[in-house]
Amino acid sequence: MAQIFCIANQKGGVGKTTTTVNLAAGLAKIGQRVLMVDLDPQGNATMGSGVDKRQLKMTVYDVLLETVSIAEAKVTSDKLIAGGCGYDILGANRELSGAEVELVDVERREKRLKLALTEVQDNYDFILIDCPPSLSMLTLNGLCCAQGVIVPMQCEYFALEGLTDLVNTIKQVHANLNRELSIIGLLRVMFDARITLQQQVSEQLKGHFGNKVFNTVIPRNVRLAEAPSYGVPGVLFDPPSKGAQAFVAFAQEIVERANKL
Ligand code: ADP
Ligand code: MG
Repeated sequence: MAQIFCIANQKGGVGKTTTTVNLAAGLAKIGQRVLMVDLDPQGNATMGSGVDKRQLKMTVYDVLLETVSIAEAKVTSDKLIAGGCGYDILGANRELSGAEVELVDVERREKRLKLALTEVQDNYDFILIDCPPSLSMLTLNGLCCAQGVIVPMQCEYFALEGLTDLVNTIKQVHANLNRELSIIGLLRVMFDARITLQQQVSEQLKGHFGNKVFNTVIPRNVRLAEAPSYGVPGVLFDPPSKGAQAFVAFAQEIVERANKL
């Protein structure tokens, strides 16, 4: 049965989507069966996986409204398959921003995605959920179905402060909605070892969170930023690049950690 991980951080632009699509591609590359769920109305993870969000007939929105199943709504990307790192995609587009309002009066609305995933969980080794930059009902749906949260973060001055809200939310979800949920780890992304401050914050993080900080560090690498405009993850766009190699190493670390869960 699949391990379900949310990639979450309520800050925007910290590398959630880059982490989701490259981890998905990295896991697929090392032989894991992966479903990537885009829970952000911006649909960046969808586009970054080579799927045109404007052409999608069914998305995670329809799944949340229970008009279709995930088996019906999931798609694949030829580019990913041709590149040897194919994974399934439950896409998103602007329509998803309406879900928050439309589900307001629905009972157990935060469990909709969990229910839908139950049906397909046996078909995958990993299900990765790209969360929006907020602690909204959408993020809550993600947190309700996950065993773990992967938190990408930049080693900047306010990094630790920003984590407090997320850690509190995870504690509340754990206490009230999902006893399985825990933080799998903090992933240092866009890291530049030449910057002393980043090294200092990185050390602080390790001091504070110990082995909850992943060993793998994702460097700042322009190839990772260029890849989305070609509709592929960096792992496929430029395999020898530092960024791509780091994400394949991260995929291996995730497989090892998942075995110990
Ligand atoms: P989020 O999903 O948290 O909003 P993104 O993954 O979209 O963040 O990343 C924000 C921006 O930073 C994007 O333009 C992305 O291409 C870029 N980026 C992310 N990770 C890296 C990295 N390791 N090196 C260089 N650029 C990166
Ligand atoms: Mg994003």
